[in-house]
Amino acid sequence: MKIGVLKETAEGERRVAATPETVRKFAGLGATVAVEAGAGTGANIADTAYADAGASVGSRAEVIADADVLLGVAGPTPASLNGVRKGAWLAASLNPFGERARVDEYALLGIEALAMEFMPRITRAQSMDILSSQSNLAGYKAVLDAASEYGKAFPMMMTAAGTVNAARVFVMGVGVAGLQAIATARRLGAQVSATDVRSATKEQIESLGAKAIFVEDVKGIEGEGAGGYATEMSDEYKAAQAALVSSHIAKQDIVITTALIPGRPAPRLISDAQIASMKPGSVIVDLAVEAGGNVEGAVAGQVVELHGVKLVGHRNVPSRLAADASALFARNLYNFLSAFWDKEAGKPVLDEEIGNAIRLTQGGKVVNERLLG
Ligand code: NAD
Repeated sequence: MKIGVLKETAEGERRVAATPETVRKFAGLGATVAVEAGAGTGANIADTAYADAGASVGSRAEVIADADVLLGVAGPTPASLNGVRKGAWLAASLNPFGERARVDEYALLGIEALAMEFMPRITRAQSMDILSSQSNLAGYKAVLDAASEYGKAFPMMMTAAGTVNAARVFVMGVGVAGLQAIATARRLGAQVSATDVRSATKEQIESLGAKAIFVEDVKGIEGEGAGGYATEMSDEYKAAQAALVSSHIAKQDIVITTALIPGRPAPRLISDAQIASMKPGSVIVDLAVEAGGNVEGAVAGQVVELHGVKLVGHRNVPSRLAADASALFARNLYNFLSAFWDKEAGKPVLDEEIGNAIRLTQGGKVVNERLLG
């Protein structure tokens, strides 16, 4: 059983899908691990650290040759998998909707492409959930990014020279990233408020010491929503939400938006007119910018200024904390493969519930229900 760890090729991607810790653990299961030279550089892991953990370090062709499982953070280009064995697994964050054409090419290669972001949100899969592990770090980093762009302090300070007011932070979308953003902004001393469409988040917001700002007149999504996910809201809800945001946002210094709808463009939550109502020097961080953006005018990969407000649109925010993000991502992959390890076969064997949820291609065909519609 050979596990290959690919060096990431996407622009700006600093993470890596295995760490010396997980290499050791895979060896403990009886697997051999081959790591592409330089794979850990962006996360400050030297090739020698992988070698010390028992991996062989080599070229991409060497890593791919005879590999039974290939691990990546982002999906590799199919062309870069030349020489891959038919039936080999590729486990990574494959962006199946955004990179739909790629999925067809993975099928043509004859590999079994496993999209880690399709991991079902069930209790036993929590430790394999890359969306949670990476969103948590993104929520933390979004607050630090906001703080560094903001020309004022976050906490209230009473000094001999006078008082500095606490920053007002508003978090829109209270999933994993939003909850961590609330907690981080609170730790920095800000006055925090937050909103979501799922009613279960109200209590979560309040338990973190923030104020819940919710649409009252139109019903949102009851409880957690299906699988913890939101759906697109009705026009009536959207109008009520826009009115609520308009009255709240003008008083905010920092806004962090994190709202996503699986398989759909991110919902638009902040309009140009609402940005114009904010004080100059305010900062908005749009964590959904790569999924279409929650904020009108935010640009992926850039910090732009509109009406005196900075719109922060960094791409791939987890990669900005590459060492921690890699450590957690690598553990998600290890937890996944080890949970299904069949001792007698000496390799992982998936069950139906998780296998069918994450498997995109098999036997030369696209097999995933979510892609076949
Ligand atoms: P997400 O990244 O899909 O979306 C972020 C947030 O945006 C969500 O809370 C969503 O409700 C919100 N949102 C969507 N549209 C909105 C709109 N128009 N206005 C305002 N907010 C909007 O969500 P996520 O971070 O992946 O987590 C969603 C939930 O799933 C959380 O409650 C989390 O605890 C749960 N979860 C469960 C498991 C598990 O049981 N295994 C694992 C991970 C997450």
